Amino acid sequence: MKYTLDTIPVLDAFNQPCQCPMCRLQINCEDGYIDSLLSSAYMEPECRIRTNQTGFCQRHYTQMYERRNRLGLALMTHTHLQDMIKSLEETMKADGKKPSRLPFFSNASHEDGRPARIRARIGACDICDQLDKTMRRYAFTTIRLSLDKPEFKAKFEQIGGVCLPHTALLLDLSEETLSGREQQTFEQFLSDVTLRKLREIEGHLYAFTQQFDYRNAGVAPTPEARDSVEHALNRLAGAIVGEEAARPAHND
Ligand SMILES: [Zn+2]
Ligand SMILES: [Zn+2]
Repeated sequence: MKYTLDTIPVLDAFNQPCQCPMCRLQINCEDGYIDSLLSSAYMEPECRIRTNQTGFCQRHYTQMYERRNRLGLALMTHTHLQDMIKSLEETMKADGKKPSRLPFFSNASHEDGRPARIRARIGACDICDQLDKTMRRYAFTTIRLSLDKPEFKAKFEQIGGVCLPHTALLLDLSEETLSGREQQTFEQFLSDVTLRKLREIEGHLYAFTQQFDYRNAGVAPTPEARDSVEHALNRLAGAIVGEEAARPAHND
């Protein structure tokens, strides 16, 4: 697959210090998609065909429900539900095959069985699909900027890389789009920066746990130790707690 560079948003995100600029980009994109879906995108036939078929995951249904635009959500959900009813009718007409008790024979019929078909349909999400495409483009851009622009590389190093889910995404794109020396250079850089940062957070987290030892009673924790639980969670799982996970405010 060919990727295009999308430099400005990536540079902007890396200019605002945080645990993971790619999480910040992702949160902003996610918010933008929800805005556009709930305001007018669902009126476009192409978008409607897509959302009728795909629906949304738990996270994105919840985020749309938290907004005040109930009409947009109701219209999209109504036609998706009609589509889902038709497909469930078909699924339930099919034979219910019992999975074999013998592990050797167990897979073929079970994986396309009725429970798997229902799970496949409810597991799809139009916003996750859109986000995935955009984040792959941002990951490609991040890699190219790290290789081509020393000042960006320095910034990446100073932030300490990105969270682990986004580290994996950078590796995906590195394997897909680079080769030879360039791939080796980028992956070594990514590995060094990420491991250094994680070891640093591990040290602060240890210092934090030591605060609870009675021998350290009255000793104030350093700011790094105080924030270490939040930093560790956000690095391990992507921005999920504290300011890093904050979504833009809305009045809609
Ligand atoms: Zn991230
Ligand atoms: Zn989703």
